[in-house]
Amino acid sequence: MKIGGMPTAQSLIKNKRRMQELIKYGKKIVEAGLAHSHFGNVSKRVGDQMLISTTGSMLDELEGQIVTVPVDTASPDELDVIASTEVNVHRAIYKATSALAILHGHSKYAVTMSMLLYEPGEQMLIVPEDAESVYVLHEIPVVRGGVGSAELARNAANALRDHKGIIVQGHGTFARGATVDEAYVILSSVEHACTVKYLVDSAKKRINV
Ligand SMILES: [Zn+2]
Repeated sequence: MKIGGMPTAQSLIKNKRRMQELIKYGKKIVEAGLAHSHFGNVSKRVGDQMLISTTGSMLDELEGQIVTVPVDTASPDELDVIASTEVNVHRAIYKATSALAILHGHSKYAVTMSMLLYEPGEQMLIVPEDAESVYVLHEIPVVRGGVGSAELARNAANALRDHKGIIVQGHGTFARGATVDEAYVILSSVEHACTVKYLVDSAKKRINV
């Protein structure tokens, strides 16, 4: 809440707590191997604003590296130049879905699986093998688009209307949630599903099932 354009002490404390939450999950993402330090980004929506990690920041050292920009902007905000290069993808996802948090990682098996399966024209979906991933994710769409491009923003937002986690082919995972914690569960689940599927597919090939 703002009074006369100045943020109140209460709103500053709330904002600090939200930043600390993103800092905590940035560390968890790197520790769990869901992104390597300088890649990936995190954001949280608060009304018509979002807190987002800055470009070039290390996900496990986000102190002082989170900026607030508008979700909906007709022309780019002045802070956009230091926000993540994928700020437009986060914006498109917030506009298209009910997400209140978005985590983006570059985990190994998710990226690998997204590059293995598809011929041109084939429907790009990874169907998990293990029961928990089927329950949490149903299936994982794979979309295309260059880093930070309008095409990627459109494709990711469309796929995330009906799914909580998607993979950008050869790039990484975008996970959404009503909370940062939920988005983290989805980010981890996508990697788990892809790891199990990769191992099952490899084992089947070895024993010619
Ligand atoms: Zn990325």
